[in-house]
Amino acid sequence: RRESIAWLRGLDAPDWSQVVAEKIRAALSEPLILAGHRIDVSPSIGITLFPENGSDVETLLKQADMAMYEAKKAGRNAIRFFLPEMEMEVRAQFALRSELRTALDEDQFTLYFQPLVGIGDGRILGAEAVIRWHHPTHGIRVAADFIPMAEQCGMIMPLGQWVFENALRQMGQWPDLGFVSVNVSPKQFHAGDFAENLRRMIEETGADAQRLVIEVTEGTLLADVNAAATKINELRRLGVRFAIDDFGSGYSSLAYTLRLPVDVIKIDQSFVREIAVDEINASLVGTIMALCDHLRLMAVAEGVEDELQREALTGCGVRLAQGLHFHKPMPASSFTALIGTSPALLPEPM
Ligand code: C2E
Ligand code: MG
Ligand code: MG
Repeated sequence: RRESIAWLRGLDAPDWSQVVAEKIRAALSEPLILAGHRIDVSPSIGITLFPENGSDVETLLKQADMAMYEAKKAGRNAIRFFLPEMEMEVRAQFALRSELRTALDEDQFTLYFQPLVGIGDGRILGAEAVIRWHHPTHGIRVAADFIPMAEQCGMIMPLGQWVFENALRQMGQWPDLGFVSVNVSPKQFHAGDFAENLRRMIEETGADAQRLVIEVTEGTLLADVNAAATKINELRRLGVRFAIDDFGSGYSSLAYTLRLPVDVIKIDQSFVREIAVDEINASLVGTIMALCDHLRLMAVAEGVEDELQREALTGCGVRLAQGLHFHKPMPASSFTALIGTSPALLPEPM
């Protein structure tokens, strides 16, 4: 190690450190054979420059570490140089984490509801609850901005509980609505007491379990299909229905996914986005629909944004959809007003 540090000392242009990193990467990427097993290593390399970025070892190591995390985020086998923005990003994440902790105590979260509609007549059949954070200085923040951090720092457990309690209570206010679906994070889903907690919350709120749909992303379920199937069955015994969220977003095997004991498939927005212009996408969605019909699964197209997409999806046999083209997520009071406005919107059970 000492040798390589001495060697790196000789570099007098930033480009050269890149060359060295490339060599290290190439060397580490060679497969190793350990006890007869092939081991593939894919290094992530972070680089910072002395004296440009700092003069003490501690600072430089921290910077190289941040750059390495950026390399990790970029996928396997990447090399990244430290940039001052990375430090700002880390600070912002740190601030977010501590703000998240107080947000729950200070009642800064709300649930919004996005209507799920019949693709032909726009009739509202249900709603998906998505969390929003009324941040004291940044305004309303969408789930995508903070749920991953909540998941990382453990806040997702109390937050997830809060979401269920509120969604279940809210559902009681809409007795004619087909269903309300609630998103569940990997940590929540895998927690040993998830089903028991949910059973207790359903009992306490007096909610109608049949009208609750639980959404878990495909990626979470496929990490261990057998464990997921066991957990899903445990949940379905409470009477709730189960949806695979972001279906088709990973490089998953249909054969595995469709063997899971689920009720609903939510076709990922990545299929919907190009549906009107990409024939392969359209035939994929057509195939998914045929499979869902055969397996008697309900299929919902997510993130429908315009009329062209709506038409193309209809052509593929899709009957249920949600997205900005129909309604964006809205506060509970607006949703109540919406389902109250038109008899044509009266929901019918799923
Ligand atoms: P998701 O369940 O796939 O939710 C759909 C996301 O797409 C939501 O973003 C929604 O606001 C947004 N969306 C709806 N219609 C459209 C559209 O037409 N176009 C586009 N581009 N986007 C649309 P949001 O609220 O930021 O949620 C992101 C993800 O965070 C959700 O993805 C879900 O996985 C997770 N999430 C949301 N609420 C909760 C929650 O209460 N608990 C947990 N654990 N996760 C949540
Ligand atoms: Mg969802
Ligand atoms: Mg989704």
